[in-house]
Amino acid sequence: MEFLDLDINLTKEDRMLKANANEFARKVMRPIARELDEMTPEQVIAKGSPFWTFMKKSYELGYHSILIPDAYGGMGLSPLQQAIVFEELAWGSVGLTVAIGVSSFPAFGAAMVPEETMVEEILIPYCENRDVSFIGCWGITEPDHGSDTLMPFHPSFSDPSIPSQCIATPDGDDYILNGQKSSWVSCGTIATHCALFCQIDKSMGHAGGGIFAIPLDLPGVKKGAPLNKIGQRDLNQGEIFFDNVRVPGKYLIAGPEAYEALLEIVLSTTTAFMGIVGTGVARAAFEEALAYAKNRVQGGKALIEYPTIQSKLFHMLRKVETSRAISRAAFVYNQNTSTPAEEYSLIAKVHGTQAAFDVANEAVQIFGGNGLTKEYLIEKLFRDARAMMIEDGSNDTLAISGGHKIIETYPRRD
Ligand SMILES: Cc1cc2nc3c(=O)[nH]c(=O)nc-3n(C[C@H](O)[C@H](O)[C@H](O)COP(=O)(O)OP(=O)(O)OC[C@H]3O[C@@H](n4cnc5c(N)ncnc54)[C@H](O)[C@@H]3O)c2cc1C
Repeated sequence: MEFLDLDINLTKEDRMLKANANEFARKVMRPIARELDEMTPEQVIAKGSPFWTFMKKSYELGYHSILIPDAYGGMGLSPLQQAIVFEELAWGSVGLTVAIGVSSFPAFGAAMVPEETMVEEILIPYCENRDVSFIGCWGITEPDHGSDTLMPFHPSFSDPSIPSQCIATPDGDDYILNGQKSSWVSCGTIATHCALFCQIDKSMGHAGGGIFAIPLDLPGVKKGAPLNKIGQRDLNQGEIFFDNVRVPGKYLIAGPEAYEALLEIVLSTTTAFMGIVGTGVARAAFEEALAYAKNRVQGGKALIEYPTIQSKLFHMLRKVETSRAISRAAFVYNQNTSTPAEEYSLIAKVHGTQAAFDVANEAVQIFGGNGLTKEYLIEKLFRDARAMMIEDGSNDTLAISGGHKIIETYPRRD
């Protein structure tokens, strides 16, 4: 379905990228995502599952490297084009979009400090990969540390009395890694590499962290079973365990001295990204509801003829459009600066994912009983949207982070 994109500055190339991504989302992602949604988590990642068909096709198109600069073989899209493509892909399936987004995480991290090892062992091989033999993930949360790993300003972040559950201890030029990451690591069950955010300096609490881009075939690494959950069932997740894993120092991207600053930069990208994919889900739900309301007849007329339904649809589209406006703006601004205005990414995440949930929820209402059945896509969109309000940081704690950022930096001088 066509929809108006209010940005009059989009070029022919931008529109072409968008149309291509939409075609991929419609023809490949949606059908595969619906199939995966009905499977067990084990079946989703099993050999021969349609998940691998999706991954292979998206790697062939280069979508796995959207976030990576073209200097290392990435797609070479502008931040605006990245936002446009991510929205379209999420319209097809947010779970699958997150799967390829996190897959690029070790390379994304490596691109922040592109030392020789990072370029030769991570960045170039990842971008050149087409057979999906290089899959990344982002391990930051731990069983007892979810929100607090994503709240750098919070007193708990620099409290040394709160023990981390994944620690890299320096040993000569290497690090010895012990502990585990949570069962929520997206693509954790299938990843070959991990962007690992873990503690190095215990005296600094979580603030004494380090960022590594490590291969997961190092001796002592183990993976947990895939997690079963209500939404985004096409996105696999699982724990990663480290038992005396010797990690060569060349895989360290940044140590405690730079951890907090780099974490803020990473979070400004991930939260704005979530706003963009939230927009894609909200738009998908709006379109489903509009089409249904045009066809469903009650009391002798189509639902669309009732003013209550018209008003609902108006508010749904209002949420889609405001979500796109703030998410694109935040993503583009923050991808173009080394001093991101993180509060805008946080607004994008909280607004965009709440919009996805609200629009999907209202759409289920418009569908009536049919909205609760597996017959219609809207039921899946509703469950997928629900997960987004916790994914990449609960909206409640991100709002606290945003409030803190505002107090700390306003009035802005730039
Ligand atoms: C779909 C999905 C994908 C994910 N992908 C990844 C991934 O790739 N890698 C990864 O490492 N993790 C991933 N996560 C984990 C995710 O980052 C965490 O679930 C999230 O940060 C919340 O942490 P938690 O689940 O431990 O909840 P908790 O931190 O236990 O929070 C529970 C509740 O308490 C509230 N709360 C917590 N702290 C405070 C506070 N200080 N003040 C007020 N309220 C508070 C929260 O708002 C929430 O409502 C994913 C999660 C989901 C759902």
